[in-house]
Amino acid sequence: MISIKHLDKTYDGGEHALSDINIDIADGDVFGIIGMSGAGKSTLVRTINLLERPTSGTIEVDGRDVTALSGEELRAYRRRVAMIFQNFGLLAQKTVLDNVCFPFLAASGKVTAENRARALELLDRVGLAEKAQSYPSQLSGGQKQRVAIARALACEPEVILCDEATSALDPKSTNTILKLLRDINRETGVTLVVITHSMDVVEKICNNVAVLEHGRVVEQGSVAKVFADP
Ligand code: ADP
Ligand code: ADP
Repeated sequence: MISIKHLDKTYDGGEHALSDINIDIADGDVFGIIGMSGAGKSTLVRTINLLERPTSGTIEVDGRDVTALSGEELRAYRRRVAMIFQNFGLLAQKTVLDNVCFPFLAASGKVTAENRARALELLDRVGLAEKAQSYPSQLSGGQKQRVAIARALACEPEVILCDEATSALDPKSTNTILKLLRDINRETGVTLVVITHSMDVVEKICNNVAVLEHGRVVEQGSVAKVFADP
């Protein structure tokens, strides 16, 4: 469970990006955070991943505030929380397989035969086993995002933060990626936090949603309730 309490973020320049954010995300949920450009979504996701420190407030994960973690504890936390991005974030000079192996390299400085076998299993799971030796530039957008999903799964995370993960994709690839994420959530119980500006994305895969406007949560609850016709 991720419990965000009274979270505020003011940037050094004085920009007040988040105000008193209170959000609870249950284990295994698919939780959407929706808002227009400038609403504070990126700030919130970077704060959950501790790429940014909040100005005040707490983020409790399994009952423990993580906002002050540093050193090895921070690295361990980041392995529990994987991310996928709008622009995929793949390493262009590495093969698909080596991209999926990268978290193993980052965690331990080496890639074992067992790691490679696991990476191949994950590529098979996302339907790209035959692309293991290809390079990212040889793949379509939807395929690149499937590689990024396999890479996110390599460290067996408890949470995957999906930051506008389908915003660069055409509608068909978007549907493929959303279905894959939903299936992986059901199979593994991994919690998905889906950051998006798209109501369509929220309606397709989220159970619960928080609506962000000008750095505040203006509505939250089940998707059925929040998006119910008035
Ligand atoms: P979104 O992801 O919903 O578009 P952001 O979190 O990027 O929203 O931005 C929220 C607000 O914080 C905006 O007013 C933006 O200009 C400001 N902001 C974002 N990043 C920074 C930064 N690094 N420094 C200063 N202000 C920032
Ligand atoms: P593109 O960006 O080229 O449209 P897609 O992600 O939509 O790529 O997928 C391309 C093809 O791969 C589709 O025919 C789709 O059915 C198939 N595919 C997608 N995901 C999987 C999967 N997890 N397992 C097997 N095949 C898949």
